[in-house]
Amino acid sequence: MHTHMPYATALTLTQDRALDTTLSQNAMRYHGRLAVDAQYNGLALDATEGRRIASAMQGADVAFLGNHGVVVCGARIDHTYDDLYYLERACQVQVLAQSTGRPLAPAGADLGARVAAQSLGERLQGELFFEALRRLLGTGPEAGGRG
Ligand SMILES: [Zn+2]
Repeated sequence: MHTHMPYATALTLTQDRALDTTLSQNAMRYHGRLAVDAQYNGLALDATEGRRIASAMQGADVAFLGNHGVVVCGARIDHTYDDLYYLERACQVQVLAQSTGRPLAPAGADLGARVAAQSLGERLQGELFFEALRRLLGTGPEAGGRG
């Protein structure tokens, strides 16, 4: 999934280019999962740009694209959507924290790694969330939607 959601994109405009995965609980779920492609090359109008971005990701499932937006990858649409949703929430609180002008208080890499492992081991909430969204849209299997 690729979006230009506002808070995540705002962080791509900073010198850090990405979310700090040691700040909030929602940010920690991405610890060790992020790649940064700082080089903005204009509109991606051909496949070479996609290959270049994929190469920059080097196995990460979340990429911050400098001056552009984010890419979230996954094997399941519900898990990927959940990652996309919480990525924006994490970026939102980081932007709000930075807007205070006060120094940030990271929790540390070890805790970030622990929360990331916990989050990846507990996906039921994201599955139920996506099912609820589909019911709202009337596209779930019970509505005769396409699977
Ligand atoms: Zn884009």
